[in-house]
Amino acid sequence: MMRSLSYPIFVLSIIAAALMLISCGSSDDFSAVDGVMDLRDFNFDDPISLDGEWRFIWNDSISDEESNQENYIEIEVPDSWNGYDYNGQKLPGHGSGSYYLTILLPESNFSYALGFPTAGTAYNLFVNEKVIGGIGLSSNDPALARPAYQPRNYELGFHSSQIRLRVDVSNHHHRLGGLWESISFGTSDDIAGSRENRIAMELFLVGAILIMGIYHLGVFSLSTHGKAALYFGIFCLIIAMRTLTTGEIFLHQLWPSLPWHFQVKFEYLTFYLGIPIFFLFIRLQFPDEINKWVAQTVLAISSIFVLIVLFTGVEVFSLSLLFFQPFSLLAMLYVIYGLGLAFLRGEEGSALVLMGFLAIAVTFLNDILYVSNVIQTGHFISLGLLIFILAQAFLISVRFSKAYDTIDTQRIKLERTNVAYHSEIEVRKSAEREVLNHKDHLEELVKERTTELEIANDRLKELSRVDGLTGIANRRRLDEEMDREWKRMLRDKRPLSVVMSDIDHFKLYNDTYGHQQGDDCLVRVATAIQDSVNRPGDLAARYGGEEFCIILPETDVKGAIQIAELIRKCVRDLNIKHESSPVAPMVTLSLGVATLVPDLAGQPGLLLQAADRALYQAKGNGRDRVERNMDESPSSE
Ligand code: GH3
Ligand code: MG
Ligand code: MG
Repeated sequence: MMRSLSYPIFVLSIIAAALMLISCGSSDDFSAVDGVMDLRDFNFDDPISLDGEWRFIWNDSISDEESNQENYIEIEVPDSWNGYDYNGQKLPGHGSGSYYLTILLPESNFSYALGFPTAGTAYNLFVNEKVIGGIGLSSNDPALARPAYQPRNYELGFHSSQIRLRVDVSNHHHRLGGLWESISFGTSDDIAGSRENRIAMELFLVGAILIMGIYHLGVFSLSTHGKAALYFGIFCLIIAMRTLTTGEIFLHQLWPSLPWHFQVKFEYLTFYLGIPIFFLFIRLQFPDEINKWVAQTVLAISSIFVLIVLFTGVEVFSLSLLFFQPFSLLAMLYVIYGLGLAFLRGEEGSALVLMGFLAIAVTFLNDILYVSNVIQTGHFISLGLLIFILAQAFLISVRFSKAYDTIDTQRIKLERTNVAYHSEIEVRKSAEREVLNHKDHLEELVKERTTELEIANDRLKELSRVDGLTGIANRRRLDEEMDREWKRMLRDKRPLSVVMSDIDHFKLYNDTYGHQQGDDCLVRVATAIQDSVNRPGDLAARYGGEEFCIILPETDVKGAIQIAELIRKCVRDLNIKHESSPVAPMVTLSLGVATLVPDLAGQPGLLLQAADRALYQAKGNGRDRVERNMDESPSSE
């Protein structure tokens, strides 16, 4: 807190000291008295201002000093002649007059020169009654007179003992007239050197301020919220322009044909526009401290003054300065108040801005006092502004470095987040791989299940072709095989035999031993029949009830009868007790055999019917026997 407070105060005191030095640069020991400047004891180390009492004759440029001894008055230089008492009358602003000064010189061989700033508003310079130059056109006649502002140096050459200066000044265009700025006198080298220094300084300021202005306008054009940069950029351009229109008025060098009243308009406009723009800029930075309505009032009042400068002549608008100066002072005081408030509240950057602004305020005050002829220092607002700009630049660089710090921490954060994301991605990838694995696994599983299902299906299919009780092929399987073998034998022209069998008196068996035992009997008979046929292609099936059918492909009737006999014997040999049977004391079978070589006209069903008929014959012939079908001739093959 102490440091930030002491820094602006330190800078301010430097500015104040600099101003004091400049204002005291011309030694006060030497000043003109009663039209005489005695420099016989002056060492001419530095130029001296020819300030003090000059002799002045109003409105009489033709006659010389001597012939108007009784008419002259003492007049202060630098000052405007307005209001001086001249033979009982108060001098007006407009008119013409002659200034006289005799400079007493030491014995030396210096070559002398004059540094002539602006005069109000045109003058001719005489040295020892010889015209050596002038600016504008000085004349009693307002129609002939032409105003001009242009600082200039005059070489006076070698002089010993004394130089008599006479400056004829006329003013018909400005509120004020006369030698309103200090004329400096010194050796040629010093006068030329100091002018070069001033020009160099001013151009340096213009360049620096211009660059800052362009920089800030650039910042504004690149940023959406750079309104402060816009105002500051414009303010810099205005002050750069102002620097060109004051002091050495370098604008004249750049634009020699610029009419005088435009030049003056520029000078005033830079002042009248600079104040509100600066005010708005400060308000943007410290909106809580600078009141909105005050800012708008400053803007409105300044606008009125700007309009006055734009639409009236120098005579009128130069008067407006009398009102604008106190107004601008009030505005600046308010800004100081606002900045002080911001500073006390510890707003970021307020100390720097306050310091820079105080530099502006001090130089601004200096300029007002200088322009009002209260002090003789020179224009310093550009210097104050430069300090302000440096403070701003420092603030900007602080903000930038802070921004870079923020960017850096953000970058580190981002990197961390990035790493986190990377590992997150890895986790996700492995999860994805797992899912893919699962998918593969699932596919395998589905395949497995499908195979299982297929197997189950096959099994079901098989089951659907197997008799539930006996475990041998059922009727459906029989039909399918019959069909296939029929076609095969048809193709191969080979015999196909069928044996149809039926248990004898099975009803009785059931009645005697019960259904359960009947079923057991069926199973044993079926197994016996099944065991009796073992050639590939042979098939034993339960035809229905206690009837069994055996298909014998590639088997002729002899072979078929053999097998039928074998079956009959096998069943008999099972020796299943059947007490109630009238045929035998055990379970017996009757069998019918039919054989044919299938042809296109025939059908499997016919072969079965033939076997059935043979079975019927076996039953009719006493049971427990094998009969062959005798109807069909092919069966004999
Ligand atoms: P036949 O010598 O003339 O053939 O006399 P049968 O009593 O065997 O007469 P048939 O063949 O017409 O009788 C069939 C009997 O077989 C009727 C039924 O009681 C019995 N049966 C049919 N299917 C089954 C079965 O699955 N289990 C049992 N226990 N008995 C059956
Ligand atoms: Mg039967
Ligand atoms: Mg039977």
